[in-house]
Amino acid sequence: TSFQDFGLADPISRALREENYLTPTPIQAQTIPLVLAGRDVVGIAQTGTGKTAAFALPILHRILANRIKPQPKSCRVLVLSPTRELSGQILESFNAYGRHMRLTSTLAIGGVPMGRQVRSLMPGVEILVATPGRLLDLVQSNGLKLNQVEFLVLDEADRMLDMGFINDIRKIVAKLPVRRQTLFFSATMPKDIAELADTMLREPARVAV
Ligand code: AMP
Repeated sequence: TSFQDFGLADPISRALREENYLTPTPIQAQTIPLVLAGRDVVGIAQTGTGKTAAFALPILHRILANRIKPQPKSCRVLVLSPTRELSGQILESFNAYGRHMRLTSTLAIGGVPMGRQVRSLMPGVEILVATPGRLLDLVQSNGLKLNQVEFLVLDEADRMLDMGFINDIRKIVAKLPVRRQTLFFSATMPKDIAELADTMLREPARVAV
C-alpha cells in the first residue's frame, strides 16, 4: 500500500509529502480505508505504531469533504486522551497534517486556567483534543456544547481507565449525538475495556497490530 491508494484530499497528501511519509504503517493501512468508509473502528495499537495519523488523516479528509462552519462553542471532532502531553502531541499532529487546509483546532487540558480555553472555543473549532476532566468542566460551565460532534476518538483507552476517567468518559459519551463515527484505540483489550467499547461503538471493524 502507498498513501496515494487512499485517495486523500490534495492538501493532506501535500502535507504528507512534506512530512516524508512514504509508506503507511500497518495500523494506518488497516484503519484509514475503514474510517474513510465511515466505519466505527476499535484498534489495538501501541504508541509508536503511527496510530495518530491512522485516525487523524481520514478524519481530516472527511472534514474537508464536507466543510461546514463549526457552531459557536462546538467542535466537529472530539479526541479524548489521558494526559496533557499526549493531547498536545495529538493536536500537533492534526495541525501538521492539516497545515494546508486552514484547520481550526484547540486543546482542552487540565492544570491551566480555563479562561483561554473558553475563549478559544467560543467561535467553535473543527478539532478539539481534550483530557476528560477538563472537557467535562468546560461543558458544565457552558463553555462547550457536545451536540455537534461528528467524530469521537478515544486514544489510549486503557490508560484513561487506569487513571480513573471511566465515569467522566461515560458522562461525555452520554452528551454526544448518537449519530457519529467513533474510533477507539487501546494498547490492551481486557474485558472491561472491550465492554466499554461495546457501549460506544456501532458495528465496529476491528484492527490490531
Ligand atoms: P504515533 O504512534 O502516532 O505516536 O507515531 C509515531 C511516530 O511515527 C511519529 O513521530 C509520526 O510522525 C511517525 N509516523 C507515523 N506514521 C508514519 C509514516 N507512515 N511514515 C513515517 N513516519 C510516520
